[in-house]
Amino acid sequence: MSTSSTDKNYDVAIVGGGHNGLAAACYLAADGKKVIVLERTEKLGGMAASDYLIPEAPNHLVHSCALELASWQGSPVGRDLKLAEHGLEVIPSEPAYAYLHDDGSSICFFKDIAKTCGEMAKYSKKDAQAYGQFIGDLFKMGATIGPMMGADPAKPGLKVIWATLMAARKFKSDRDEILNLMTNSALSIVEERFEHPAVQAAVLGFAGGAGPVMRDSAGLGFMLLVMLHSTGMGRVKGGMAKVPEAMKSRLSSLGGETMTNAQVDEIVAEKGAVRGVRLESGEFIGAKAVIGACHPKVALNLVTDGEVERKYLKRVDNTPCAQHGSSPFKIDIALNGKAVFEHHQKERKDDVNLGWPTTMMGSVETIVENFEAAARGELPEKAYCWWTVPSVADPSQAPEGEDILYVYPAAFPVRPRDGWKKARKPSVDLVMDWTRAVIPNVDKLEIGRRVETADQLEERLNVPGGSYVHVDVSILRSAMMRPAAGLSGELPVKGLFFGNAGAPPGGGVSGQPGRLAAARVKRFLK
Ligand SMILES: Cc1cc2nc3c(=O)[nH]c(=O)nc-3n(C[C@H](O)[C@H](O)[C@H](O)COP(=O)(O)OP(=O)(O)OC[C@H]3O[C@@H](n4cnc5c(N)ncnc54)[C@H](O)[C@@H]3O)c2cc1C
Repeated sequence: MSTSSTDKNYDVAIVGGGHNGLAAACYLAADGKKVIVLERTEKLGGMAASDYLIPEAPNHLVHSCALELASWQGSPVGRDLKLAEHGLEVIPSEPAYAYLHDDGSSICFFKDIAKTCGEMAKYSKKDAQAYGQFIGDLFKMGATIGPMMGADPAKPGLKVIWATLMAARKFKSDRDEILNLMTNSALSIVEERFEHPAVQAAVLGFAGGAGPVMRDSAGLGFMLLVMLHSTGMGRVKGGMAKVPEAMKSRLSSLGGETMTNAQVDEIVAEKGAVRGVRLESGEFIGAKAVIGACHPKVALNLVTDGEVERKYLKRVDNTPCAQHGSSPFKIDIALNGKAVFEHHQKERKDDVNLGWPTTMMGSVETIVENFEAAARGELPEKAYCWWTVPSVADPSQAPEGEDILYVYPAAFPVRPRDGWKKARKPSVDLVMDWTRAVIPNVDKLEIGRRVETADQLEERLNVPGGSYVHVDVSILRSAMMRPAAGLSGELPVKGLFFGNAGAPPGGGVSGQPGRLAAARVKRFLK
């Protein structure tokens, strides 16, 4: 290591300018710390991004990754960082989701539980009642694990421990059901509770957003329903990039710095403690603490050779990142007219525009088949796919009278058996066939499209497996076991901390891992 006297020195250097890195930086700068965020790409935001990415359609905004604000509303980050004063505006999503059944009917998911039950009563009165009970049980699970989710698992504090104990006591008689929701497969939970295929598929579709529904603890994916029916879902006015933009603006107002096109090649450590980071350009940036706001595997492997015990490197290398072999890929399509969900819209007897919610399609068998095929490295047969038209909720995202379509096939192979080079065209063709069946005017209106497969996302954002939550969702990778036991709190190098989706409490756009990392760094620098 060579450090010249002209090199810069900071209290904290943050590796990765995703929204978690930026959130951490804002909290620390507000505490008077001298911080810098280093981002290897040309833009801040990571997976919380939106941009004009289709050359033939320069005014159609593309969400390359995240679109929905799900965990954001329950997170204090937006309020703490005063992001509304820096241009962040959230549009409530209502209805937030809609399941599209094969026969043209649909089930809308509103924030209001009774209204959502009403949608299910069309198929089965018993299931409508069961849904109310299901959400009630999920709320109990949320109340039990919720306090811990917002806290630092390495130092939860008495208030959080007390709230958890009180919830466990209050729901003592529901213990078995709560444990079942936390540990069982989503598939079993759905089969246990619902009888009609449409209701089963509608509910299961949510859990599929967090990974294979057949695996133990996939029921955790139903937390999305807790968010939907408690805080509600939202979209960002002007697109997801407004989140990192608002954070950058807040950070600048506090004197914090950001640097893009600044790939960190080494987290420099000496005698078991961090000293700073070295950029690809060779520049050394001194820091008393470093936050790995990129993927945890990437962060730990950046530490100077020999400074991290082998067992921790192996442990982090073996954390599951889309380990089950499935992942979404993205197709965004610019349209020169309005997307119409023709068959399903006709069947709606109310004024819901199906372009507004995120729509999901796929029977129980189809969802399972998609994950099984992906695990074998094969393409699925039928549509388990999500579609959204972001320009319906926010017309500023496309020219007047036109739309941008967000297509999210939820369970494709991460590494197709024949490689993505061969699998790309058939995958896109398959998804476009499904899309045509739902939005028949898509071909006529298409101006251009952007496709990003898992391998491309992996390379673009330096995220192993292209994993959208960095480390797979499971009860065994939660709290003090996220990303792995021994790596959720104090890291094996003094002054190094994780603040990314692979760290507690987990993935999604919430800013919470960044907030927790900042709190740890503050304690460390005291
Ligand atoms: C297709 C897709 C759809 C999604 N949809 C939603 C959704 O609708 N709602 C939701 O809440 N969540 C969604 N997510 C998940 C959510 O976007 C992520 O979990 C979250 O944004 C991760 O944030 P992060 O800051 O922890 O990490 P990231 O966003 O991954 O940011 C890490 C940053 O580190 C940078 N980096 C990596 N290596 C280095 C290095 N060596 N030096 C410097 N910088 C480096 C990367 O370039 C990146 O910018 C989606 C994700 C994907 C992929």
